[in-house]
Amino acid sequence: MELVTPAEVEKMGENEGITRNSTLICAPIMADTVDQMLIHMNMTKTRGADLVEIRLDSLKQFTARQDTQTLIKLAPLPTLFTYRPTWEGGQYDGDEQSRLAALRLAMELGADHIDVELKAIDDFNNLVRGDKPTKCKLIVSSHNYQNTPSVEDLGNLVAKIQSTGADIVKFATTAVDITDVARVFEITANAQVSGVPIIAMVMGEKGLMSRVLCPKFGGYLTFGTLEHGKVSAPGQPTIRDLLDLFNFRQLGPDTKVFGIIGKPVGHSKSPLLYNRAFRSVGFNGVYVHMLVDNVKNFFNTYSSADFAGFSCTIPHKESIVACCDEVDPVAKSIGAVNCVIRRQNDGKLYGCNTDYVGAISAIEDRLRGSGVQNGQSGSPLAGKLFVVIGAGGAGKALAYGAKEKGARIVIANRTYERAREIADVIGGEALSLADLSTYGPEEGMILANTTSIGMQPNIDETPISKEALKSYTLVFDAVYTPKITRLLREAGECGAQIVTGVEMFIGQAYEQYERFTGLPAPKELFREIMSAY
Ligand code: NAP
Repeated sequence: MELVTPAEVEKMGENEGITRNSTLICAPIMADTVDQMLIHMNMTKTRGADLVEIRLDSLKQFTARQDTQTLIKLAPLPTLFTYRPTWEGGQYDGDEQSRLAALRLAMELGADHIDVELKAIDDFNNLVRGDKPTKCKLIVSSHNYQNTPSVEDLGNLVAKIQSTGADIVKFATTAVDITDVARVFEITANAQVSGVPIIAMVMGEKGLMSRVLCPKFGGYLTFGTLEHGKVSAPGQPTIRDLLDLFNFRQLGPDTKVFGIIGKPVGHSKSPLLYNRAFRSVGFNGVYVHMLVDNVKNFFNTYSSADFAGFSCTIPHKESIVACCDEVDPVAKSIGAVNCVIRRQNDGKLYGCNTDYVGAISAIEDRLRGSGVQNGQSGSPLAGKLFVVIGAGGAGKALAYGAKEKGARIVIANRTYERAREIADVIGGEALSLADLSTYGPEEGMILANTTSIGMQPNIDETPISKEALKSYTLVFDAVYTPKITRLLREAGECGAQIVTGVEMFIGQAYEQYERFTGLPAPKELFREIMSAY
């Protein structure tokens, strides 16, 4: 997902007159040898990191004085030396004396920061006896790989770390739920008010916001890796993601937070789209992935005006309706909300559904393009038999939208009762998924898959046999990763027109962007970004 270089990103910020925040990006450097570490350090500098965390515990061989001197002398960026023992989640399992002596040596030889674990700080302080060069900042750290304690316990932890003489407080906890991150934001913001430099992270995918929104709450640094998956702690984004995907340099206290709520959600391209669009017009917002288990808890926790708007995907589109203070009448009849705006005047949540607009208009355009005339409703869908696979949020939206255009509706779903329910409400036929393979009462039908069947990583799956596709003139797939699913490939081979989920995605995104920002959607930019996928 490398769209622009860090230099281009910085230049964009300059052009738009946006001031860069003071939160640093620190690249963890883990390698077998000193030479490899130096190569990685140079690469992280090119990517745009501000400092490097040299993880001495990852080295296969380490000659303390010689290697530390080399690393400090040749490091292209300010350094942070960490020598993490196995008892704190690292790789060093040797004796404590040598480990602490190596950290002291790094400090004496000119390291800009060293990281000492809270559990070892008394021993370290006894070793150093106050003899610390002023240049070197002492980070005292604590890691919790199980959960995220209460605000009170975290506050006590910060106070305890501060009392050790730390220049910078660091703690990392684990996100059991995305709401855990809110407690860490609270602690970070309080620390900033009291003038305590703090590094506070919540590990794991559900903790992503803690890493991205650091500058908003005043964190000293966040960690960004060189490559996806090459992390020193769970959930770290890459430097490129921070800079290019999340516009990290431009985030600040007033930045409004938007996001996509779902489970799973990591595959979503929405952050790419909205953040590029925000940056293109200098809109002070950031859009992040939000891996949410329970929408009610989520909205109860993130209730401030700063959390301004949300897209919603699998599996929450229906349960989110009950969380909204007001729901648009169309969304109400569909029974699914895919976009929630927090009204800035009274903080109330307003839910609507933009799903069907993008898909239906893309299907109509394709039909018209292939010579199908508009019917009485003014749409080429009028009178057509429109078969929807799936009875979730997207399925209901498509069925509702096609019905509005005068199509006759058939819903096929794995859980037949759900198909029956929608068919009864909007006036249509219900099928089980198994019935679909023999269903073909007439030629020229339209098929819309709205299940996640065929979505990455299960790209070999398809909801209907190739044989059964022969009755369809046009096949649409809501899945957009990959762009051409097995269903669409086989439909094309059978001679049907195809409409991809990307077209639906772009259409619904135009509308959400306008609702989020009050600005016209940069349609060309959206198309350009999505054409790469
Ligand atoms: P949802 O509300 O959770 O509904 C999921 C539907 O898929 C249900 O009908 C479910 O059947 C069915 N389903 C799930 N897994 C299945 C399986 N293994 N076999 C058979 N049926 C299965 O989700 P949604 O929000 O409607 O989203 C559905 C899909 O549309 C997702 O892939 C999403 O990424 C895509 N989508 C794309 C766009 C776009 O812009 N392109 C927009 C929205 C959604 P049961 O009722 O039996 O559980």
